[in-house]
Formats: sequence, C-alpha cells, structure tokens
Amino acid sequence: MKINQIVSNTLSSNVYVLTEKNSSIIIDAGCSLNEVKKIVNNTKVEAIFLTHLHFDHVFYLKDYVENFNCPVYLFNSSNVNNNNFTLKYMVGNFSMPQNCYKNLKNINKIKLNNFVINCYHTPGHSFDSMCYLIENNLFSGDTLFCNSIGRTDLPTSNITDMKNSLEFLKTLKFNNCYSGHGEKSTWQEQQENINYFLLEI
Ligand SMILES: [Zn+2]
Repeated sequence: MKINQIVSNTLSSNVYVLTEKNSSIIIDAGCSLNEVKKIVNNTKVEAIFLTHLHFDHVFYLKDYVENFNCPVYLFNSSNVNNNNFTLKYMVGNFSMPQNCYKNLKNINKIKLNNFVINCYHTPGHSFDSMCYLIENNLFSGDTLFCNSIGRTDLPTSNITDMKNSLEFLKTLKFNNCYSGHGEKSTWQEQQENINYFLLEI
C-alpha cells in the first residue's frame, strides 16, 4: 500500500490518498479536487473516510463525491449540517454533499477491495473524531499530532473524552501516525506525546 500525503494550500490540513494496486481510498477532504486527482490518477476511489466534520477536513468533499461517485464513511451523518460539528461559521459558506454517507457508529472494521480499515471512535477534539488503523498506519485526524494533540476548546470538544481517547490510543500498536495537520510521527514519539498530555490535561 502506498500512502500519499497532500497538504492543503488554503487550509493547511492533510489529505491522504492510499493506493493499492488499482484502487484507492481517501482520508479527509481539505485539498482541492485537482490536487487529489493528480495522485488518484486512474485508480478507482473506493471510498472517502472522514476523521471528523470540521471544515478544514471536509471543505472539498462535495467536489470529491461528485467526481469519484463513492461513499463517505464518518462517525454519524446526522451531524453534517450542524455548525457545531463543521464550524462552518469560521470560513463562510460551503455545501456538503447529500446521500453518500455511511455511519461508522458501532462499526469497527470495514473491508473494501484491497483495504481493511479498523475504525475507532476517539472523541475529545470533537465528538465525532475517528481514528483509522490501516495495516500498520494510524490516521489520527486532529486527535494526535506530531508533538501535540488536538484542541479541546471547540463546540463539541470534551476534555474527559480526550483523556479516555488518549488512554485508548496508547494501547494501539502501529508504525507511523499520520495526522490531520503537520508531519507524520512514529509509535514511540506518540507514546511520549500521549504520556505528556495525559499528565497535562
Ligand atoms: Zn479539527
């Protein structure tokens, strides 16, 4: 499996395109469709996975869905038009696609063609935060960053949830952690990062 990281010019968030043979999956939607299309190339996009609904991770989602015509997996689609989940008021208007969603609430594993995606609900930064473990790679959205963790002062944030999510993530085994912003980090770096913040918060 090849992991491609694309950094959004406008929103500074990461999109990941995972490719295996002739199929791809996309994690988050904060980069323009054109940037993503270059990487997807002629592979078939099986699905898009959202780490959460904050605008910087979903801004271009409608373009992706219209172009790739694929399902979108997320914690719970009933939140897609809720400003407390999207924080839409911070960036002005954009529209979310309709009728493409599959809820991951109560689902912990998805198999799609060449991909096996382990899905973990990790609230704290936002109530709908998800982490995905694919092979030995953790895609942590805004829950874990390299040397930091996500903010917990936003409308659906919760510090106790964050603490519980960190305790859980500490038990996961992975090689690298790919965050919603910034550079990737190793499992060892995340052990230190998590331990530090468990004492801080
Ligand atoms: Zn966020």
